Amino acid sequence: MEDQIRISDLEIYSNHGVYKEEKVLGQKFLVSAVLYTDTKRAGVSDRIEYSVDYGNVCHRIAEVMEKNTFDLIECAAETIAKTLLLEFPLIRHLEIEVKKPWAPIGMPIESVAVKIFRGWHRAYLGVGSNMGDRMEYISSAIDRIEEQQDTKVVHVSGLIETKPYGGVEQEDFLNGCIAIDTLKDPLELLDFLMDVEKQSGRVRTVRWGPRTLDLDILMYDDLVMNERELTIPHKEMHKRMFVLEPLAEIAPYLMHPLLRKTISELKETIEKE
Ligand code: ADP
Ligand code: MG
Repeated sequence: MEDQIRISDLEIYSNHGVYKEEKVLGQKFLVSAVLYTDTKRAGVSDRIEYSVDYGNVCHRIAEVMEKNTFDLIECAAETIAKTLLLEFPLIRHLEIEVKKPWAPIGMPIESVAVKIFRGWHRAYLGVGSNMGDRMEYISSAIDRIEEQQDTKVVHVSGLIETKPYGGVEQEDFLNGCIAIDTLKDPLELLDFLMDVEKQSGRVRTVRWGPRTLDLDILMYDDLVMNERELTIPHKEMHKRMFVLEPLAEIAPYLMHPLLRKTISELKETIEKE
């Protein structure tokens, strides 16, 4: 169970709603937040710098509400969540609830509300290149990821040289893995990574053919998903030494959520084959 700092029904008069009158006249909103953060260090030291200053949090919530005019309380909640996660690094996850007690629906009602749960996700990415200046493609991809406000690069493995697989005649690969913390959901992350691939001049022609840059999502928290455009954990990761070797360097004890083995165990398994 994680520690929480809770803010209940912070009252803010502001101008959100689909109707013009709501934007002009404004109305009362109530914002609640549950901040998941480890309070132990602040608890034993009695020092505010080791905790999340809830006074500052309340002021930031009020600013977001007062300086914007949203149609939807969904968007108000989303914007508050993102602002707090970006500005208060000790918050790992949070819940935001925006209540609208005077919602103009023509019926007596206590309130309507939207409540969302958002947070940082740890993902592991595989990077590879086997065309042109391979090192340069990989390092500029890492720079592009780092530039994203909602994504932080946490670890970068060393790069290893590998022979290509899949039977197409081509240059050797340079492969590595990186760990990131991100606010993007898996499909947003995939879209972004494909964009970075495109910008590096990659054209999708031959499957398993040469590429300036390949960016794969290996794992995303302990999520398991299988959709048309995205499978997590990556379907082939446990069979590929060029993934497991750099990944074991930065995350040896990471647990594969389906195979229930750590990355070093998976690596040992294929080393024996
Ligand atoms: P590969 O990486 O297997 O050599 P590509 O990069 O050309 O091949 O394949 C990319 C396609 O695979 C993408 O269009 C994407 O929709 C799909 N895909 C499925 N799962 C993943 C994943 N975990 N990471 C990246 N792409 C994935
Ligand atoms: Mg790929």
